[in-house]
Amino acid sequence: MYVSVAPRGPLSALVTSLWLYQGEAPGHARDLRLPTGAVELVVSLRSDDVVVSGPFTHAFVLDTADQRDTLGVAFRTGGAGAVLGLPLDELSNLNVPLAELWGSGAAGLRQRVLAAPTPEAKLEAAQRVLPGGETRAVTSYPPYPVIVTEGHGARLTDVDGHVYLDLVNNYTAMVHGSAFAPATEAVAGLLPHGFAFASPHPYQVALAELLAARVPSVQRVRFTNSGTEAALLAARIAVRATGRRRLLMFDGAYHGSATLFLPGSPDVVRVPWNDLDAVTALLGRAGHDVAAVFAEPFLGAGGVRPAAPGFLAAVAALASEHGVLFVLDEVQGLRNGFGGEQGRLGLTPDLTLLGKIIGGGFPIGAVGGRADLLELTVAAMTPSYVTHAGTFNGHLAAAVAGTMTLRHLDAAAISRLNDSAAALAERILAGAASAGVLAEVTRAGSIMNVHMNDPGQLADLHLALLLHGVYTTPRGMINLSTALGPGDLDDIAAAYATAFTLLRGHSS
Ligand code: PMP
Repeated sequence: MYVSVAPRGPLSALVTSLWLYQGEAPGHARDLRLPTGAVELVVSLRSDDVVVSGPFTHAFVLDTADQRDTLGVAFRTGGAGAVLGLPLDELSNLNVPLAELWGSGAAGLRQRVLAAPTPEAKLEAAQRVLPGGETRAVTSYPPYPVIVTEGHGARLTDVDGHVYLDLVNNYTAMVHGSAFAPATEAVAGLLPHGFAFASPHPYQVALAELLAARVPSVQRVRFTNSGTEAALLAARIAVRATGRRRLLMFDGAYHGSATLFLPGSPDVVRVPWNDLDAVTALLGRAGHDVAAVFAEPFLGAGGVRPAAPGFLAAVAALASEHGVLFVLDEVQGLRNGFGGEQGRLGLTPDLTLLGKIIGGGFPIGAVGGRADLLELTVAAMTPSYVTHAGTFNGHLAAAVAGTMTLRHLDAAAISRLNDSAAALAERILAGAASAGVLAEVTRAGSIMNVHMNDPGQLADLHLALLLHGVYTTPRGMINLSTALGPGDLDDIAAAYATAFTLLRGHSS
């Protein structure tokens, strides 16, 4: 496996100090001294000392050719080469010792590669049983995913013992961070008594009561095992309730990884986000066949793009006018307000999709909403009812962990989270500005997304933050947990500032 880097300038400045292995096959490494002048540099990614995996935009390459120095080199496939975000042509003009050039970022990288010879081996073992070595789209990123083995509060530890401040929180689900004591104690207390029965259970009732108490539109609740399943159930309820077949969704929206919700689904009609005219035109059309509008309060996976003021209220009113159900997806949004985003926005959806935090870190999803709609799932109440099955629906570990999580997420805790997120967004922007890097931060409550013009830069930012002990997502989404203290937020802001400095001048 090779990566080609076509430098835009002479590499002579590097020749004396940059040694790389070129291996024809694993275990057959030989030294390659870089020739002078503009060349195409071909680097083996499979020598004994190379810690990489593909496909990738970056590779970490070790030079232990003469034991003098050990270098971490980042390469971008199909474009200009880059060393820690510096274009090679810029680098070639810098006649300075490499150690200086790398600065603290390089020291971190060197240390990382030296101290962590295991990821490739671990990844290879994982790849023998898990395709790509992982089991979820978002955990696949170059050069290889961090393998997290433990989490306590706001700190995650990887397989090599590196510690990170967690800004992922399992994609917003862990609102109190990892191993939140009230949740783990509740689950530990549950386990000796049995935790998965083919029967309703008081703990399911307790969680449903808590949800109904917080979110007034939620009169009844049906539990599932994921947000995806909740969205699928809501779609079936809407079709059954209206006798229509199609769903109206917004470009960039995410309601789960089911065929129905993925682009190209014949039963979904999409309109641009925040485009009220498009919704009006569609629902005004005779024979539109739309059973429900599905909306997130802000595009979550679509880049944390909030709804325009008044947009969702207008959409809900239009839906109601046309006998179409309004389904609000609060799988991410619930953490942003005591009654979810709908409380903040003054919305009363017919159905609400829930997930993530309501299971306290255990698999869960739920549809909440109007009693008459939810009762369409009950055989005894509805002829030709909507069958809703699921071996683990309302799993008791999720029910008790979710209950404890919500009890500790009161209005004061939520406003602290939202305020901290607003402050962090400002500090991230300030860091970018002082490094002279273009970045944008969008935010909804305690969930944010850092945007950069170049996807390569976003990938570099992700890696640079990892090297500085901050765990974020490759797409730039971050979110806060109540476990983060003020000192942690200071460290995070500082890590962003440093990471932006490393990116300065890098563009492809
Ligand atoms: N809806 C939204 C808004 C989500 O963010 C997600 C998950 N990211 C889902 C639905 C699907 O939830 P799950 O991953 O639990 O299936």
